[in-house]
Amino acid sequence: RDYAPLQAVHPVHVGAAGDENPDQVGGLSVVVPIYNEIGNIDRLYAELTAALTPIGKPFEIILVDDGSKDGSAAALEAIAATDQRVKLIFFRRNYGQTAAMKAGIDAASMDVVITIDGDLQNDPADIGPMIAKLEQGYDLVHGWRVHRQDAMISRKLPSRIANWIISRTTRFPIHDLGCTLKAIRRNILSEVELYGDMHRFIPILLHQRGARCFEIETHHRQRIAGVTKYGIGRTLVVLLDLLTVKYLLEYSAHPMRLFGGLGLASFGVAVLTLVVLVLMKVIGGVDMTGNPFLMLSVVSWLAGLQLLSLGLIGEILARIYFTTEKKTHYAVRRTVNFEDAVSAGVQ
Ligand code: UDP
Ligand code: MG
Repeated sequence: RDYAPLQAVHPVHVGAAGDENPDQVGGLSVVVPIYNEIGNIDRLYAELTAALTPIGKPFEIILVDDGSKDGSAAALEAIAATDQRVKLIFFRRNYGQTAAMKAGIDAASMDVVITIDGDLQNDPADIGPMIAKLEQGYDLVHGWRVHRQDAMISRKLPSRIANWIISRTTRFPIHDLGCTLKAIRRNILSEVELYGDMHRFIPILLHQRGARCFEIETHHRQRIAGVTKYGIGRTLVVLLDLLTVKYLLEYSAHPMRLFGGLGLASFGVAVLTLVVLVLMKVIGGVDMTGNPFLMLSVVSWLAGLQLLSLGLIGEILARIYFTTEKKTHYAVRRTVNFEDAVSAGVQ
């Protein structure tokens, strides 16, 4: 499916002026998060190289070890020792899939980043068609697992509901946010912050920035080795993240503003009840002992002031958020096959 950009927040310029095909892809950086995937690593490397070689472009495979405890690290080392195109980043501990992907994206050196799962549920053979699509003039091609091979009740059903809610609220008609297999031009990808479980919102965030997006049908397979790291709770986290994304997309609708709004309402009630109280006392000469308006007024004043100050803090936080520089959300222990360790995020 082809989406016209809603509005170009940032005009996208791809390629240098005068290029024959400005959308031509130079090279590929494949980014793979790895957490306890010992049984998949050798096959992953074999399938990836088999899929990437015929594309005929220079490539690198960045494998990010997200604190594995099953010996994955040694298996990765063994591959990197024989192939310089395989680059490794080792996290100090488990930071989660999004952080691992972000670290790989930050360290990528080619002009297109491909994100893919390490358990081979995505089929590396789909990368070729995605790159071909990208070269037709897209900034992002994201996969749609039409025949997703995961548990129905705990994974597919909740994620279908989440996809529906999210595509409705963000007005971006996407079928499958959870598909990790994506091909994205690095110049636009590096502009967005990724944290929490946000990797799935990449198409929406980039589309908002004027990226030309294309949704492509991709294959999906059952896990051959190892176990999934997620259960039904995953979808809840995703829906929570939606609040943040909504906040990023529309600054004016961020959730902290709710407090300010409630505070304002409460403040309004406080002022009204005070006026009523004064009128009752001065004009009506009413006895104020145990008067319900008095209680309402006191409570509204307190609640109003507290909520207004919370709203103010929210406002300040939002402003700070929007002015802070690039943040990293992971710590790197060491890297392999990177010429410049600092550029790969070693602190
Ligand atoms: N993963 C990771 N850190 C985590 C959890 C998962 O790097 O904390 C990786 C995992 O090794 C795999 C990918 O993220 O390469 C997707 O994980 P999984 O297959 O468990 O998710 P599912 O396919 O069940 O959604
Ligand atoms: Mg998987």
